[in-house]
Amino acid sequence: MIESKRAYFQKYNEEYREKNREKLNLHNKIYREQNKEILRKKAHERYLKKREYYRQKGKEWRAKNPHYQQKFARKTRLKVLECLGGKCALCGIPDNRILQIDHINGGGTKERNQLSTMTVYRKILKLCQEERSENYQLLCANRHLIKEAARLGERRNDAS
Ligand SMILES: [Zn+2]
Repeated sequence: MIESKRAYFQKYNEEYREKNREKLNLHNKIYREQNKEILRKKAHERYLKKREYYRQKGKEWRAKNPHYQQKFARKTRLKVLECLGGKCALCGIPDNRILQIDHINGGGTKERNQLSTMTVYRKILKLCQEERSENYQLLCANRHLIKEAARLGERRNDAS
């Protein structure tokens, strides 16, 4: 008796969801929108509980799908270029293929050695959001090389 009742409700629920799919989706969307912060917190708590598991899963997934990561890195790079003005600070060329991120006051090599490319991207995007990205600029590859050569030259002169 109980089993058949359960089956009946299950079927009823399924039919209801099927019939009202759009309404329910909209309802869910609004709910997610209104409870963004709480849901994010809960998701983060779930992640913390099984951190190692998720890290491992993520690692495996990335190893299996390298092109997704490359695509994501490219997208993030474009976002960084956009937030830093999208053109060479010296000659103004707006070609994404040759633009590079320059640390105006140096420290780029150190940062690259300590942080992953994605971490640097994320850091710059955050700084841009806070309008504190003044230590970064874009240079085309040529200007970047010239600046680097001048810097190394100065150091050599200092040493001699
Ligand atoms: Zn340039």
